[in-house]
Amino acid sequence: MNIHEYQAKALLRDYGAPVSDGRVVLRAEEAKTAAGGLDGPLWVVKAQIHAGGRGKGSFKETDAGEMGGVRLAKSVEEAADEARKMLGRTLVTHQTGPAGKQVNRIYIEDGSGISRELYLALLIDRSTSRVSFVCSTEGGMDIEEVAASTPEKILSFPVDPATGYQAFHGRRIAFMLGLEGGQVKQCVKLMGILYKLFIDKDMDMLEINPLIVTDGGDLKCLDAKVGFDGNAIYRHPDIAALRDESEEDPKELEASKFDLNYIALDGEIGCMVNGAGLAMATMDIIKLYGAEPANFLDVGGGATKEKVTEAFKIITSDPNVKGILVNIFGGIMRCDIIADGVIAAVKEVGLEVPLVVRLEGTNVEKGKEIIANSGLNVIAADNLSDGAEKIVKAVKG
Ligand code: GDP
Ligand code: MN
Repeated sequence: MNIHEYQAKALLRDYGAPVSDGRVVLRAEEAKTAAGGLDGPLWVVKAQIHAGGRGKGSFKETDAGEMGGVRLAKSVEEAADEARKMLGRTLVTHQTGPAGKQVNRIYIEDGSGISRELYLALLIDRSTSRVSFVCSTEGGMDIEEVAASTPEKILSFPVDPATGYQAFHGRRIAFMLGLEGGQVKQCVKLMGILYKLFIDKDMDMLEINPLIVTDGGDLKCLDAKVGFDGNAIYRHPDIAALRDESEEDPKELEASKFDLNYIALDGEIGCMVNGAGLAMATMDIIKLYGAEPANFLDVGGGATKEKVTEAFKIITSDPNVKGILVNIFGGIMRCDIIADGVIAAVKEVGLEVPLVVRLEGTNVEKGKEIIANSGLNVIAADNLSDGAEKIVKAVKG
């Protein structure tokens, strides 16, 4: 789960990390009061969307002005004006995809004088299964680009969970970042705060880009991008309350309400599968036969007829779906339940695209019989590759 920058900064502030003072604005009328509550002489007006690259992004609407989603202003009026221009407009960045994201919230911040822009992140390194620090002198830039062209400018190391964060970790980062004097002490303290926050809240990513040295020589977190481990959200009602559903894919949101493991993709073949491994294999084999999956969907081991019905409805609601492949290996999951669910869904929402069903395992005969007797135009498949071949053929001719 992701949150907005202003929410992440509130968490940072709570834990004692240095961030600028700021106000969130939901409606254009509030912009002037919000900007007026800050000292100046510089204001930063920041579009709040769950995507990075806002500064270099651009708006779809011409009346939103030329510049991107992070703007500097020199007066309260100018700041309020920039906020008004951005609210309700669609911001496109390299992380939003071409469709962009509508800006529904603006964060107005006290502007900082910047001496240096640095990069700092905490994430879970899957190869060591440990929380790792990543830092670089090349802040404010696309870190993937830095990693590709000048990897020597990035330092990354894991923290041993048995000892947790230690001052030497912070000193190592300070040295890499070329910090001096009091900045080293600030760095050691700040890294400890970030590590504690990361662990306390079960984050899976905490990226500060840029971490700056202000013109006064102090460290400050100028941007914050935070992700939480979805499986641990139940332990953090305070974090769950920060969820902004308008930032999420509506199909994924619907799926999460029914506890379905669903991820929207760009292809044309909708897939309904039980088991994450089988879902991955199904996506692979669809590609092998020359098409692209429209989604990843694992209905799980103990799905009910209602859950299967919902899953099917979510797949058919996607206008990109030109064909559907149901691939079930019945273990705990019974094939007749899947068949019942598919038929119930088709009766409710109709079926305008070819449907290939491959059933195997528990109650397979019963499942096949239900589908055969349903009168639906279903193409039966004998195995995984037969199913993939048939659906790709049905869609692509
Ligand atoms: P992003 O583009 O979505 O990553 O948004 P950021 O919050 O990182 O802002 C983009 C850039 O705007 C930063 O790298 C800074 O160069 C600039 N910026 C952001 N806040 C301030 C500020 O308080 N003062 C100044 N001078 N520049 C800022
Ligand atoms: Mn940034």
